[in-house]
Amino acid sequence: MKRILVTGGAGFIGSHLCQRLLDEGNEVICLDNFFTGSKENIRSFVSNPMFELVRHDITEPVLMEVDQIYNLACPASPVHYQYNPVKTIKTSIMGALNMLGLAKRVRARILQASTSEVYGDPKVHPQTEDYWGNTNPIGPRSCYDEGKRCAESLMFSYHKQNGVDIRVVRIFNTYGPRMHENDGRVVSNFIVQAIRGRDITVYGEGTQTRSFCYVDDLVDGLIKMMNAEGLTGPVNLGNPGEFTVMELAEKVKKLVNSSSKIIKKDLPQDDPKQRQPDITLASQKLGWAPVVDLDDGLAKTVAYFNSVLRKGDAAGARLA
Ligand code: NAD
Ligand code: UDP
Repeated sequence: MKRILVTGGAGFIGSHLCQRLLDEGNEVICLDNFFTGSKENIRSFVSNPMFELVRHDITEPVLMEVDQIYNLACPASPVHYQYNPVKTIKTSIMGALNMLGLAKRVRARILQASTSEVYGDPKVHPQTEDYWGNTNPIGPRSCYDEGKRCAESLMFSYHKQNGVDIRVVRIFNTYGPRMHENDGRVVSNFIVQAIRGRDITVYGEGTQTRSFCYVDDLVDGLIKMMNAEGLTGPVNLGNPGEFTVMELAEKVKKLVNSSSKIIKKDLPQDDPKQRQPDITLASQKLGWAPVVDLDDGLAKTVAYFNSVLRKGDAAGARLA
């Protein structure tokens, strides 16, 4: 049993990670400022005596005795991270500094949630960890991707200079239950639009690609990486199945049996044209590969949103 700190633990991925760590018999401290996270996400285990919730902003230092730190705190949807870009940069950089300071002081192992965004609009396909990326340092996505690049740099600097025991993972587009209905990312947008019978909004021509990983697979990879010996990373974690955004829209429409129309809207600036992880390293070093394919993962996510949206509608009707 270990005492484990999960920053961003009330968010989408963080809440699944907390759940899994508790199930494995650990003590879990969830630290979150609830910018995009929610108490609803942690409701099913908040009364577990092995679980502690701390409302805290990681841009401020914190001191606690822990064995491991998963640093996940950071808004991940472009809509949310562009809402207050300066705060997003502070969260990535000051957050990483504070968590690395803590790791150094209490000799904890620390895992940084980095992102496929560090590859920007990639010129190497699929993306391997040795690719340095193609990011725009002053564009609308830079608060997120440059923040994460700096967080990686901080991790490796603390490792080389102070011997901090680090792990860096680059997470590719992940989806599943507990995404917020207004999260703004493509999978939740399309599913909510399809269930509601609203237009499904494809940005641009929909020819850009993404590779979608189901959250349970991702959490499995995070835990394997944290507990691997002699491996700092960076290691890509994602599902190599690559789809165009139009293919995703059509899949979701069919799965929901929706009457929605698929419409095209403007493509956001600097939207990466293609993205697919090369996961050779994760498979060789961690014995990890995703097992949930897109159809199965989407079916589980649709079932989740069907139930959440139905509950929301029933509550709305009671108030009316
Ligand atoms: P999310 O927005 O659901 O979760 C982020 C959590 O961090 C939320 O609970 C939020 O309230 C919290 N948070 C934000 N700023 C904070 C601050 N200053 N102090 C304390 N808490 C703060 O997003 P997610 O999809 O669960 O992403 C989790 C992590 O994984 C992020 O670091 C993200 O960059 C990374 N990641 C996610 C994806 C993905 O596809 N989901 C892809 C690449 C990387
Ligand atoms: N996208 C879309 N419609 C939406 C939301 C997103 O077509 O309603 C596109 C977006 O332009 C991008 C892809 O879907 O090309 C993935 O977007 P998301 O915000 O989920 O994540 P990203 O990988 O861009 O960070």
